[in-house]
Amino acid sequence: MTAINIIEKKITPKIPLTAEEKKLLALVDDKEEEIAELLQELVKINSLNYSEFQYHNINKIFDFTKNYMDNAGFKTELFKAPFFSNKKNEFYYNLIASYEGEDPGKTLQFNGHLDIVPFNPDKWDEDTPPLGGVIKEGKLYGRGSVDMKAGIACQMIAMKLLKDSEVKIKGKLQMWFTPDEETHGAYGSAFMVKNHLDVVNADATIVSEPTVRVPLTSPGISLGEKGPHWMKFIFHGVAGHGSWPKIKSSALNKAVRFMSKAKRNLKFPKRKAPVTKWQQIKMLLSRVSFADYRKIVAYTGEKSPLDKDKTKRGKILYNTTFSFNQIKAGVKTNVIPDTCELEVDFRAMPGLSTQQVFDAIVKYCTKLNYRIEIPEGYTNLQHSIQKFKDEPVDITISILTVGEGSASDPNSEFGKLMQNAFTALYETSPIFGFMTGFSDGGNMREAGMKDIFILGPGGRNAHTANEYAEIKTFRDITKLYLLIAYRYLKK
Ligand SMILES: [Zn+2]
Repeated sequence: MTAINIIEKKITPKIPLTAEEKKLLALVDDKEEEIAELLQELVKINSLNYSEFQYHNINKIFDFTKNYMDNAGFKTELFKAPFFSNKKNEFYYNLIASYEGEDPGKTLQFNGHLDIVPFNPDKWDEDTPPLGGVIKEGKLYGRGSVDMKAGIACQMIAMKLLKDSEVKIKGKLQMWFTPDEETHGAYGSAFMVKNHLDVVNADATIVSEPTVRVPLTSPGISLGEKGPHWMKFIFHGVAGHGSWPKIKSSALNKAVRFMSKAKRNLKFPKRKAPVTKWQQIKMLLSRVSFADYRKIVAYTGEKSPLDKDKTKRGKILYNTTFSFNQIKAGVKTNVIPDTCELEVDFRAMPGLSTQQVFDAIVKYCTKLNYRIEIPEGYTNLQHSIQKFKDEPVDITISILTVGEGSASDPNSEFGKLMQNAFTALYETSPIFGFMTGFSDGGNMREAGMKDIFILGPGGRNAHTANEYAEIKTFRDITKLYLLIAYRYLKK
């Protein structure tokens, strides 16, 4: 991969660093190695999570972080979320570590997920194994390194430095470690906001998922995310002998027809993005020259020769999308399948409700002349159409996981403080974005929590082989966490 050098314009911060702040931030200067060592420890503990329906014991990494935060002098508390089948008393932990000031005041919360997605060791380079935490040329390799144990390590050290400094604070700084963001947080963020909202409902929260858009070196600030709607479609058809094809009533053929016409005909209502395309272009152009802007836009990193998709960033980012990702049908070569299961990953724009997602799917099925049944609790537009009343059901949908898209306001009081801290430190203006993927922030906003922002250190290859975190991004982001905490909580 060729490295791309971008020259970023410096600007004068509105609220520059004070002498006291400079002194505080200098504490981070020689901490790069300590952060990397902590990250190595975290990467070496396997905290694999590949399904919300199958239990994985990842208590070891919670024991490690609790121990670390205990030793650093924080108050810690573990919360147990029982696993749903709960046959063997299985459970997941959430950990809260807190540092309270002398007087009451606001609560700032750091947040990160300790779980990692699966890996295939054969696809990784031999000298950088997935659980090795190997450092090579400024990069720390390992599954979960950039997504998102690096952000967690930086927040842990920032918290420790604030506590060990002379700074007096009011209110509280707390850090919340979750166990299952990679499977949408049923036992982490969703469990806690449902059962312990009083504990996690901070005045502001910074989730340290990676937000550096390579080749930029400063992190972006993600305001929100699309809403994941993972659904299972069951197509009902008629079985028969394979020598006598049933083009229209084979369940598999129904699913194929559903998929092949969707690109053109399955339409979702438009929603205005939390940050529009033009705002993003303007923000980027305020930072870099037009020539550099073009380099950034064209940058795709490594790409497989099998990958025939041109990344149409705009089309994907600013629209509700769907991807057909699992299909099951058939028992034997000469038997026409009477059922076909299709799992679809819909990603709804913030502002589009789950009911509106269903409405679009139902309208599409009506066009295809398929009778569809959707889960209870939602209105089915087909129920008012006479011609479907006596027809058999072609498709039933069930929800695998659902969360609506959401975003926070960067111009809230905390949002402005964060922006000013960013500019004071990086001497450049922040770039806002939002994410196609889920984060624990989604569950927090859905529960009514305010001022949730995502901001974390960079790297590449999250979820693919040879994932790494870039060590040179650790120092500045740790300073930023520390500066935001200081400005928000100082007495
Ligand atoms: Zn993540």
